[in-house]
Amino acid sequence: MSYKIPFIKPDFPSAEDVAADYARILEANWFTNFGPFEQKFATAVAAYVGDGYFASTFSSATSALLASLLAVLGRGDGSRYVIMPSFTFAAGAEALVWCGYKPLFIDIEKTGLHMDLSAAETALNDPAFDQKIAGILFCNAFGVGTADIEAWEQLADRIGLPLVIDSAAGFGSLYSASRKVGSAGRCEIFSFHATKPLSIGEGGAVVSRDEALIKSLVSIQNFGFVEKGSAARLGFNGKLQEINAAIGLRQLKRFDSILLNRRAVLAKYKSGLNPSAFKFQQNAENASLCFAAVLVQDPAKRDAYLSALREAGVEAKIYYSPSLHQQPYFKTAARHAQLTVTESVDGSVLSLPIHDNMRAEDIALIINVLNG
Ligand SMILES: *Cc1c(COP(=O)(O)O)cnc(C)c1O
Repeated sequence: MSYKIPFIKPDFPSAEDVAADYARILEANWFTNFGPFEQKFATAVAAYVGDGYFASTFSSATSALLASLLAVLGRGDGSRYVIMPSFTFAAGAEALVWCGYKPLFIDIEKTGLHMDLSAAETALNDPAFDQKIAGILFCNAFGVGTADIEAWEQLADRIGLPLVIDSAAGFGSLYSASRKVGSAGRCEIFSFHATKPLSIGEGGAVVSRDEALIKSLVSIQNFGFVEKGSAARLGFNGKLQEINAAIGLRQLKRFDSILLNRRAVLAKYKSGLNPSAFKFQQNAENASLCFAAVLVQDPAKRDAYLSALREAGVEAKIYYSPSLHQQPYFKTAARHAQLTVTESVDGSVLSLPIHDNMRAEDIALIINVLNG
């Protein structure tokens, strides 16, 4: 079914612009394997996060997660756990399993929908997991930066475990006025999938302060090669193609205006929707906003809102639901703590479309349908 107002509508570079890039790729006879567009894009992604950061691009955030967890945690034997939220996308938990770890899902807090610090303390102090926790995979839920990032970094330092951050939907988001998402933990992982604010089709990146880590990620995504054609470590193919990097460079050039537009849509939802019926995620106004997540205050009405929107031609969705511990694969591949808030949010969250160039009348229509 096609909707009058689709869930995503990325504003991609024009066919002429992409054709010009493609002509250069043909001329250079360099299609992938760290060509000139990829090198420029990696440098630009790191520079976007800030001075002193390094980046490695990837074919997707999933391959970036896989390589990061492999590099930071080493390959596990399946006996140890990594703390992560159940309220997230499956990719991070799947990457953990591929790396030889079991996800240990813990609960989230109600305001930012991020992993809950006290739930992490509880898991870390649980004798059942003594010496069995290898690290923390934090997720900036829906790409919105947590207000507690310093506390998470302090916790990781104190317990001496690595903190890796899945910020897949959050390129362009801020933790605070003075700190960008991408700047925290051992490294942060981004997605440039068509559904994300900086969209290039398929693609991802890892950003870190640690240049040696980024170098090892470049090797892992290139079959573990260090010297040409000789595997020095376990790797796979996770490389980004030139054409996608070229699109990324064009998207980055106008990213500031894309962000302004997206944040303006959120501001309209916030001022237009009945505040006693709909609440927003803390710090969403500083996010790049793959969509607008709202918490329906009367969960019994959530599905009716969803159908009313769909009937009006609006494609709304429910992310991240079902949360991971309710998905069949993770019932055996993972363990979980008490997930009271996760399950309640799972039943009340609703994701509304945000487009790069969203028409005022489309936003108004959505608000009208929801306010009833
Ligand atoms: C989108 C997303 C991913 C997957 O990104 P891909 O680039 O499609 O692999 C992983 N984690 C989270 C939290 C996401 O939102």
